[in-house]
Order: sequence, then C-alpha cells, then structure tokens
Amino acid sequence: MKFDWYYEPTSVNECVEILKEYGSEAKLLAGGTDLVVRLRSRAQKVKALVSLNAMPELSRIQKTEDGLHIGAMTKLMDITKSEMFTGSWMVVKKSAGNVSSMQVRNVATIGGNTCNASPSADTVPGMIASDAIVRIAGTEGERALPLEQFFTGPGKTALKKDEMVVGFKLPDLGPGNGAAYKKYAIRGDSDIAIVGVAARLKLSQDGIIEDARVVLGAVAPTPIRVPSAEQMLIGQVLTDELAAKAAQAASDFCTPITDARATKEYRKEMVRVWTQYVLKEAHSNAQ
Ligand SMILES: Cc1cc2nc3c(=O)[nH]c(=O)nc-3n(C[C@H](O)[C@H](O)[C@H](O)COP(=O)(O)OP(=O)(O)OC[C@H]3O[C@@H](n4cnc5c(N)ncnc54)[C@H](O)[C@@H]3O)c2cc1C
Repeated sequence: MKFDWYYEPTSVNECVEILKEYGSEAKLLAGGTDLVVRLRSRAQKVKALVSLNAMPELSRIQKTEDGLHIGAMTKLMDITKSEMFTGSWMVVKKSAGNVSSMQVRNVATIGGNTCNASPSADTVPGMIASDAIVRIAGTEGERALPLEQFFTGPGKTALKKDEMVVGFKLPDLGPGNGAAYKKYAIRGDSDIAIVGVAARLKLSQDGIIEDARVVLGAVAPTPIRVPSAEQMLIGQVLTDELAAKAAQAASDFCTPITDARATKEYRKEMVRVWTQYVLKEAHSNAQ
C-alpha cells in the first residue's frame, strides 16, 4: 500500500481544503473495506490518504421533524442496531444487515458503501426507494442531491474533486408507507449481490397504491429506478397479476452484464422473480 501523505482532518472544512489541494491524487478513507483492498493490490494509487475518522460528528444518526439524518461515517453495524429506523425506513436498516459479515459491517460505513458507487452496493436500492437525499460538502459550501442522481457510472459519482459526502437525509414520508429489499447472491449475505431489488409502496386507507418505487441493484451501470413499473402500480390495488406485470417491466428495463457470478439472462430472470416477492413484502409492510 503506497501513499505519500496521511491526513486526519478534524473538521469538514479542513478536509475539503485538503481535497482541493490534491485533487484526484487524494482519496478519502472511511472504513477502508473497499479502498484498502484496492490500495494493497495497487489497483489504485494515491498521493494523499485523507482519513475521515477524526470527525465523530459524521457518525451520528439523528431524528428531526423533517426526517432521519445519517452521518456518512455511520458504521453499517450501528445502523443495524439503531432503534431510529421505523416504518418504511426499516428497509435501510435491513439492507445494511445484508452487507457481508459482522466483521465487515463493524468497520464499513454507509458513506463508503455509497461513494464506492458499486452497482451492487446493498444499502443503495433501499435508500433510493426511501427518496434519500445525499448531503455533499465542498470548498464552495454544502449542496444536496437526490441519491438516485448521485451515481454516474460504475465507481463514478457526481462528487467534484473538492467534495465529500457528509450525510444522508431520509425524508419523513408519512403513514401508509412500506418498503422491502431482497438480495440474491450465491453465498448469501457474505457475497456480492447478483441482483438486489428494493420497493416502497404508499397505500391509501382503502389499499390503493398512491406512490411506488421500484429500484434495482447490480443489473445496470448504476442502481436504477424502474419508472414503467412504478407507473403501472400507482392508482391500483396490488394483486398477484399486477405484481407479476410490474416485475416483468423491471426485468425488461434492466441492462445487466454477464460476469463470473451470473449471466445477463439469469440476472433478468432473477429481477422478475425477486421483484414480485419484494412488492408483496413492501405491500404487507405498508399495512
Ligand atoms: C469481504 C468483503 C465483503 C463485502 N461484501 C459486501 C456486500 O455483501 N455488499 C456490499 O454492498 N458491499 C460489500 N463489500 C464492500 C464494502 O464493504 C462496502 O462497500 C463498504 O460499505 C464500504 O465502506 P467503507 O467505509 O469501508 O469505505 P472505504 O473503503 O473507506 O471507501 C470506499 C470508497 O468511498 C470513498 N468514500 C468513503 N467515504 C466517503 C465520503 N464520506 N465522501 C466521499 N467519498 C467517500 C472512498 O474514498 C473510497 O473510494 C464487501 C467488502 C469486503 C472486503
């Protein structure tokens, strides 16, 4: 593992100034479960390694009137143990528990899982289904972006060279919402997802779907929403037939690749199968 300088800033302002100075030659270090592997294998070289571990304010989970705020450095294990994820936010807590093993979750952070921008990151589909907002800080100040707009390609994000993620907001979506996430991987949670599907449904008191999110992971260059499936669901009552139709739309919409873990045809079929399950689970969670 080779780098020239190691920094441990104690404030976000200090951190983004370091990023500005080094540009693409700096790399932020959170839990290191992705980055250290790449640095050790020399797949990635950096001049300045900038640790985020001396900013405890980035590790908080706070509930306010407008939603739930999760600091970027919050460990996945802390999310799985938090009592603050209630209602449809439970999907984020559960999907954090789908990331690998206890050993990995003890050090890996939600900011790292997001900023690594892997299409198969387990926490991301549930966060997008929850309409998560990502909070970004840079030398010019802070900005916010819907999480679904954050990913620009595999390993690529909308972050500028002097920017970092400071946290996420899960808006309070009100009553009647239920969400679910299901990961399919050969060796269960200890393995990277072949397919990940999240859904959120908002039901009226008489069971009509008022709003819907269908989000897929590992089957496109970035996590994706499926607008055709969502539109199909809105205004309807969920039946087996409707779930099957929406699932087929999701399967048709995704653009997976064939790799060592699965063929693209298998991934499409698993999207179809998993989407039906996830819609039914989200529906049951909304009641
Ligand atoms: C054995 C093993 C199994 C795994 N299994 C899974 C799995 O099942 N599911 C899954 O989703 N992932 C899995 N992963 C991947 C990994 O654990 C996660 O992506 C993890 O959440 C990354 O978080 P981290 O804090 O370790 O990030 P790091 O490795 O520290 O950083 C990852 C990337 O994000 C950038 N970054 C980190 N924080 C910020 C920030 N606040 N702002 C801007 N950029 C930032 C870093 O510069 C780096 O490029 C696995 C990894 C290992 C080693």
